[in-house]
Amino acid sequence: MDDLLPPQVSSSMPTITGPTITGKTQLLGVIGDPVAHSLSPMMHNAAIATLGLDYVYVPFAIKPENLAAAIAGFEAIGVRGFSITIPHKQAIIPYLSEITDKAKLVGAVNTVWRTATGWSGTNTDVEGFISPLKALNRDWSAITPVILGHGGAARAVIVGLLEMGCLDVKILGRNPEKLKHFQQSWVNTPLADKIKVYSWENLSQLLSQTELIVNATPVGMAPHRDRSPVEAVLWKSLAQNAIVYDLIYTPNPTLFLTQAQEQGAAIIDGLEMLVQQGAAALKIWLNQPVPVAVMRQRLRQQLGL
Ligand code: NAP
Repeated sequence: MDDLLPPQVSSSMPTITGPTITGKTQLLGVIGDPVAHSLSPMMHNAAIATLGLDYVYVPFAIKPENLAAAIAGFEAIGVRGFSITIPHKQAIIPYLSEITDKAKLVGAVNTVWRTATGWSGTNTDVEGFISPLKALNRDWSAITPVILGHGGAARAVIVGLLEMGCLDVKILGRNPEKLKHFQQSWVNTPLADKIKVYSWENLSQLLSQTELIVNATPVGMAPHRDRSPVEAVLWKSLAQNAIVYDLIYTPNPTLFLTQAQEQGAAIIDGLEMLVQQGAAALKIWLNQPVPVAVMRQRLRQQLGL
């Protein structure tokens, strides 16, 4: 019998396991520069394996000067969809034939999929961010959240909070020029009047007035675990019943969240946002429900949580 098999295979060999790539495997992925740190391939491939689908999600390290060639190549080889991370979240927009209103408001796209007429894009960070808040029973219209930082993630946070029903949001920044530029970037949107900017000196006062504070700065992210965007002495100003949310997911929890918890705040870390933005993207690509618990568990395992 063994004579009929190719020379290297014998019927007594153990079963060989591994990712099953077939002639029909569909391609998904993430583009970024760098991209090697991304946890998305593990999260998405765990979900794909659980669903038993013939898809694979791979990292593509793409330099800004190669973006156009990469997108044309993706079309040529039939990539079904991809995630976008730094530095391409804005640069991708000119290559899309359609972009959702949400992504337009945020000004950035993190998820792209192929349609009959070209590439479409949206921003699932908004959905990811609000997901853990939706589980809480609060009257969002009575809360004016305070957001630390005004980078790309803060923009998704703002759109999410206003979508949830908050009437306005207060944004803190440390650089007056950048803060002014940030405010101007909303001028031609329906949200302009709802976004107020403040310098960092107002932090103590704003902490006492809000029931939701969000860290959208990288301060406290590993390896700088001993840093917090809020000085220890200021936490005593924190309002009662406050929710304190950090977009950072490593370390978990951050010093910012530990300090807030010591003041009696309810805390939310950035892991669920990461899971839910990924689940929302995978749902778009596969057009079916996805195993969110598997995605969450794979990330927790990878992060040692
Ligand atoms: P970004 O575009 O670089 O923006 C960072 C913001 O933080 C800027 O406004 C920056 O202000 C401010 N900042 C930086 N260092 C500061 C400091 N020492 N004091 C005060 N403000 C400071 O970054 P991003 O993409 O928005 O990401 C922000 C954080 O969110 C990162 O930690 C990222 O990992 C996290 N994130 C998490 C998720 C998730 O799924 N959980 C998703 C996206 C982002 P200046 O311009 O003055 O420096």
